[in-house]
Amino acid sequence: MKVFTTLGREKKEFVPQEAGKVKMYVCGVTLYDECHLGHGRAYVAFDVMRRFLESRGYKVIYVQNFTDIDDKIIKKSQEEAKEEKEIPGKIKEIVARYKEAYFRVMDQLNIKRADIYPCATDHVSCMIEMVGKLVEKGFAYEKGGDVFFSVEKFPSYGKLSGKNLEELLPGARVGKDEKKKNPLDFVLWKSAKPYEPSWDSPWGKGRPGWHIECSVMSMEYLGETLDIHGGGEDLIFPHHENEIAQSESYTGRPFARYWIHNGFVKISGEKMSKSLKNFFLLRELLEEFDPRVLRLYLISTHYRNPLDFQIENIKSVANSWQRIEEACLKAEEMLGGEKVEKLPATLYFKNFQQAMEDDFNTPRALGALFDLVGELNRRLSRGEKDAETFSLYGDLKEMLDILGFPLPQREHLSPELEKLIQQREEARKNKNWAEADRIREILKSKGILLKDTPQGTVWRRF
Ligand SMILES: [Zn+2]
Repeated sequence: MKVFTTLGREKKEFVPQEAGKVKMYVCGVTLYDECHLGHGRAYVAFDVMRRFLESRGYKVIYVQNFTDIDDKIIKKSQEEAKEEKEIPGKIKEIVARYKEAYFRVMDQLNIKRADIYPCATDHVSCMIEMVGKLVEKGFAYEKGGDVFFSVEKFPSYGKLSGKNLEELLPGARVGKDEKKKNPLDFVLWKSAKPYEPSWDSPWGKGRPGWHIECSVMSMEYLGETLDIHGGGEDLIFPHHENEIAQSESYTGRPFARYWIHNGFVKISGEKMSKSLKNFFLLRELLEEFDPRVLRLYLISTHYRNPLDFQIENIKSVANSWQRIEEACLKAEEMLGGEKVEKLPATLYFKNFQQAMEDDFNTPRALGALFDLVGELNRRLSRGEKDAETFSLYGDLKEMLDILGFPLPQREHLSPELEKLIQQREEARKNKNWAEADRIREILKSKGILLKDTPQGTVWRRF
């Protein structure tokens, strides 16, 4: 199995440190806002990798952090608080609000929960210890309550991003209130302003910088060398470059064996981001589209390629999903309940697996899946209930499981909900829009989303 690593930019045979075990760390979100499609893309991509590795028999330990202290969170709390003394309480409230929002959308996308979700504020004492060691070893220095990492002390700085100091320096500036010796030095510990949350440290009251949290928390749960360190392409520089510099200076060992980065989601050629204000929130997209369709849309592009976002494309993926769903429902009706022994994998499954072994090539894997669906449909329509048909259906279920799709099942609503949908139909016929909307909201509060189509009203759970 081959995996592309950003460090050295090459596909490498995948060999974890310990046989049968994969230690995986993926950078998580900063809890100050809702997730957009770019976040969905990243976490679906890493979820598929994890599921595939698990299907290959690896025990995967997956750790993903939450950044719960940071400039953006503090800024948001200032905007929402009426007085300075409310800020610490506000921060707690904001962090809890967006953590809940994160799980709501990621659970809908059927992303498996991480084994551990460490939060930065629970690990500050370990961060202070690591920063202290870096100062002691001469890699970092303190100035006026701030501590900086000195990039000149780490000769291979730039090895991940392919940037070098000579090239970076001319563009870098030292801000007016900064105390760095070299403009490329980065902060490990920040002195806190009076109203900000702070921790006691050898350098006075302060709080950790962003980069240090990932180094400390990944090592805490996974050890000094990770098998896979992942994140969005935008984290390569400076975040992951800085993580390497501080971690490897601290331990004297390689920090991660494989650096995996997913590509951007783009809109009209530009990166989808908060700062460009051109983002689509996952919450909103999930009200419009079936989460399985959105998931299928996201993995239809290879994770390293940019994904050019167009609503129209999601709609066409909806038809593809319907093909999968119909094949499953029909197969279940014809073959379900009948016991068959495990049959050898079909050629389609072998192609699927080969594609996934080639740096998690999901578009190619989906090609094999759709070929299988075509063949399965042909056999089902001819009423062929033989071993080959059973094999095809068995393989389809396994492929769907690896890609993170729950097996489609015919769903039924309770009579009470059915009745509400009928009442709404009545209201619509009588052009009583207010009543129709009222019933729609009731259903939504019960987890049922309605969509009015030319063929009638359809519902789904969300
Ligand atoms: Zn990180």
